[in-house]
Amino acid sequence: MFKLKLHWQVFIAMALGILFALIMGERSTVVTPLGTIFMRLLKMIIVPLIIFSITSGVASLGDSKTLGRMGAKTFGYYFLTSFLAIITGLLLTNIIKPGVGVEFSGMGGDFDPASLNKPDSLAGILIRMIPLNPIKAAADGDMLGIIFWSILFGFSITRLSGKPQEFFINFFGYGFKAMMKLTQGIIALLPIGVFGLITTAVANSGIDVFKAVGKYIITIFIGLSFHFLVILPLVFFIFTRISPLKHWKAMASAFATAFSTSSSGATLPVTIDCIENNVGVSNRTTSFVLPLGATINMDGTALYECAGVLFISQALGIDLSISQQVVVVLTAFLASVGAAAVPSAGLVMIFIVLGAVGLGDHPGAGVIVGTMLAVDRPLDMYRTMVNVASDSIGAVVVAKSEGESNLYPNN
Ligand code: ASP
Repeated sequence: MFKLKLHWQVFIAMALGILFALIMGERSTVVTPLGTIFMRLLKMIIVPLIIFSITSGVASLGDSKTLGRMGAKTFGYYFLTSFLAIITGLLLTNIIKPGVGVEFSGMGGDFDPASLNKPDSLAGILIRMIPLNPIKAAADGDMLGIIFWSILFGFSITRLSGKPQEFFINFFGYGFKAMMKLTQGIIALLPIGVFGLITTAVANSGIDVFKAVGKYIITIFIGLSFHFLVILPLVFFIFTRISPLKHWKAMASAFATAFSTSSSGATLPVTIDCIENNVGVSNRTTSFVLPLGATINMDGTALYECAGVLFISQALGIDLSISQQVVVVLTAFLASVGAAAVPSAGLVMIFIVLGAVGLGDHPGAGVIVGTMLAVDRPLDMYRTMVNVASDSIGAVVVAKSEGESNLYPNN
């Protein structure tokens, strides 16, 4: 029987969601539970998927030398692409100057900046990466804590030998296989979930605020598009010599999921599925690069942190010196590393960057962040997609450099 490919089903679901929301207005939110159920299903599998995936992946790396080499390549890639994204944000905001002349008084509405949970300091985030209790970290969905524990545990398995080692490699390897079957079952529901999520996103967006900060939205949009359509494909091609189109096609379902859920964490199961089954990267590489990438490698968020803070300072009429802009670049990177892989996390982290240039407690900055929050959803959707795109390319770049061949077998 003729069956439309999953990514086409998803695009159609997106289009239908937009239409449905436009035609039905507020009443269209009757389909919100479809999106909510889908999000819950994805979130339900993240913790066990990460534990099985990382532990079995690291255990199969064999020794500390391989782990060190993979780690160096992975982090090198994360740094490179995040900085390229930040530089794009920096240049664009300085050229377009979206904040100059924007009038914010009254626009924050009844938003109280104190109501936003301000992030921990960066040192605090790094220290908290070591979980006091791995079971609690798993129960709280603390991704960095779970990753940290799984890498160490997987590594300990490489130090075992004989039967005990075989047992653990099999246990986590088979557990991972079973988790991927479950993942695929949930992915089959993608079009329904996307329909619910997109309908809700469109139904809840108020047009007026969007008009007021249109230039800001356009700046971020151009920056993200440049990174997604020019920089990342170039990086991909330079390192792999493979046509980026193949990659974009193989990843279409993951990109659509990132766009509709606004969460790289929730998208992770779909990203792993696309990278292993459509691209053909080994679990050894995928399990290491993707969960780590979803948590700390966020190009879209990095670009946004930098552009967002420059926008706020422009709107406040404060000229940041070159050295202050360098501070913005560095802290934008750290903020993107610390941002959780959940909706609007990047916006909250902006306070870290603001704090680094002395604007953290500026009352005007709070009002502007309130307005940015009001228009954040579509920007968040796009930057999450860029985050996932960068993670997925990282997996292929590392796989290629590790000598993996036969990638993209179906196109
Ligand atoms: N929503 C983004 C993500 O999950 C993070 C952000 O808000 O920038 O990747």
